[in-house]
Amino acid sequence: MASVTIEVDLPPGVEITGYERHQDGHGFEVRWPLPERCCCQRCGHEDTAHIEFKTTPQVIRDLNVWDQPSFWVYQAPFHRCARCDHRQHIIAPFKRKDVAYTYRFEQFVLRSLIGSNAEEVGRRLGISAEMVEHIVENQLAEDRTIDPKRVITDIGLDELSLKKRHRLYVTLMTDLSDPARPKILAVARGKDTTAALKCLDRLSDEQRQQVRTHRVDMGSA
Ligand SMILES: [Zn+2]
Repeated sequence: MASVTIEVDLPPGVEITGYERHQDGHGFEVRWPLPERCCCQRCGHEDTAHIEFKTTPQVIRDLNVWDQPSFWVYQAPFHRCARCDHRQHIIAPFKRKDVAYTYRFEQFVLRSLIGSNAEEVGRRLGISAEMVEHIVENQLAEDRTIDPKRVITDIGLDELSLKKRHRLYVTLMTDLSDPARPKILAVARGKDTTAALKCLDRLSDEQRQQVRTHRVDMGSA
């Protein structure tokens, strides 16, 4: 029987437990290690985790596979407090609260915006331009630190230009040391030298001296 292998890079701890092709998309059932202890957000009672699962599956967007959208499917876990019966969600480590996409999908969207705009990226990925802009806002608000020991040989600086009417410029600094796995290191509001310096400031002195910088000029875009 013929078989097809799909290679999927997974964040640490995440496991695939099932797969289903769904028209032009791919659904991966995932699980990840759950905490052993939980602290109740309502009454503060700390206890062994009493985990229950929502019966309806949660479907969130992940990276493309073969240029087609892929989704992670799981039953959202929650902890029920033995003292006050309060039910609280256990947030998966691969996404932020209240969104239906992984952190790495956010990074992918950001990288897709290089040389493009929110409408085009949205159309290409099958999501709304509003979602694209929301992702950019999330990324801008995130407090990132760069591990000073990270070995960085090449970085790229790119300017993104968003929103037609109220122009929003964002500068991206990406680690291109492994070109197959670009990793976003810093995201700053604004463009030009000021924003680029704001990104470069996040590197340690040693990293700044070793790195080759590739500045992509977006011209008058
Ligand atoms: Zn409680």
